[in-house]
Amino acid sequence: MAPQLDGFFQQVDGLSDHFIDRLRKAVAIPSVSSDAARRPDVVRMAHFLSDELTALGAQVELRPLGKQPDKPDLDLPPVVLARYGNDKGKRTILVYGHYDVQPAEKTDGWATEPFELTVDGQGRMFGRGSTDDKGPVLGWLNAIEAHKKAGVDFPVNLLMCFEGMEEYGSEGLDALIEQEAQRFFADAEAVCISDNYWLGTEKPCLTYGLRGCNYYSVEISGPGQDLHSGVFGGTAQEPMTDLVRVLASLVDTNGKILIPGINEQVAPVTPEEESLYDDISFTMETLHDALGSKTTIFEDKKPTLMARWRYPSLSIHGVEGAFSAPGAKTVIPAKVIGKFSIRTVPNMEIDKTNELVYQYVQEQFAKLGSKNTLKVYAQHTGKWWVASPHHWNFTAAAKAVERVWGVKPDFTREGGSIPVTLTFEQATGKNVLLLPMGSSTDGAHSINEKLDKRNYIEGIKLLGAYLHYVAEEPKQ
Ligand SMILES: [Zn+2]
Repeated sequence: MAPQLDGFFQQVDGLSDHFIDRLRKAVAIPSVSSDAARRPDVVRMAHFLSDELTALGAQVELRPLGKQPDKPDLDLPPVVLARYGNDKGKRTILVYGHYDVQPAEKTDGWATEPFELTVDGQGRMFGRGSTDDKGPVLGWLNAIEAHKKAGVDFPVNLLMCFEGMEEYGSEGLDALIEQEAQRFFADAEAVCISDNYWLGTEKPCLTYGLRGCNYYSVEISGPGQDLHSGVFGGTAQEPMTDLVRVLASLVDTNGKILIPGINEQVAPVTPEEESLYDDISFTMETLHDALGSKTTIFEDKKPTLMARWRYPSLSIHGVEGAFSAPGAKTVIPAKVIGKFSIRTVPNMEIDKTNELVYQYVQEQFAKLGSKNTLKVYAQHTGKWWVASPHHWNFTAAAKAVERVWGVKPDFTREGGSIPVTLTFEQATGKNVLLLPMGSSTDGAHSINEKLDKRNYIEGIKLLGAYLHYVAEEPKQ
């Protein structure tokens, strides 16, 4: 029996300006978690959510997480824990999202002010955090409000966990989840996370796998302080010269990881798995649009998706301590730290991968015969995740997608990592579903991040519909 959703859907449409206004207020709070100076704004964002949830009738707690490990004077922003409904006759669903955002400055190349939600003629709502992850977080609040105003009984008990440090390694969250698994989250029967994206721009998807991420630093130092090349060039072995040669040995132009033993850990592709890729709605044009270029490694869909989802990749991110401003400063940096990461997949093991990386980097550095000093270490590591897409949690979501969007969703994996997914799965022992709201061209973490109005409004319907279908799925 299909749930009665028309009243709820009509209410969402009727309240759409109000919901966009709620997103505008949230985007206006620059809750950048990586910037200590912005910490009061991150905390303000937690209070904003808490106030909105309280006004909607939820029970809310702001849980302190103590101090930030790398900045002992700085308080971590609180986790917003909330419960809406406490009816033993209903299913209980736990949802997660994050209210912090990546840094953004107009001067980075934004066409609009990053912290002012700006809606263009095509219904694209630009603003930092619009799609990652304030839109989806507010989606749950909006779904509650639309039910109340429509006079429709809320179908489940909803537990909410919204954190403020996701863009900075979710500091402190794992411990809280483990501690609350048998307390605040004890009656959760399944988990839903809305913090990823459709594969393209037209077809919704449900995501059942993520790559992990091991992030490394390679530190090379020599001189006691930065030097002038006119005075000291030619007299000292230069850390930057060594570093670029070490970094260049990690990966080739076509993405092949050159560290022995990494690719050998990857689970082989079965014919059944390979056939799954044929039906997925994805075109290279969408990828070109999302990239903003045609500089793809592969020309076709299947190898591209496999490279993104089920094979590891290595990316070089930056060099700390290097001269990076415009102009021609003749500095010789005394110490430079190269940053790179490996996206990991089944069946790669974190410890083994670390060992292989350390050994290889040390060997490459040793080959240079440099008198400088090398340190290589992992900044953070996170395992990959794969769930069963046949669980009722996924079945319910698939029905909701079909009801709201009129198509069956693609079942996809993601190239990124959302480490909290695995933490929730391990701590609660429940199935975790990734139910995205935004589309592939939203540009999370980039300049001109946006969420389409259609994805936001239909996404609110989707989150609500999912809860109705979840309530109807037979107990297994
Ligand atoms: Zn996010």
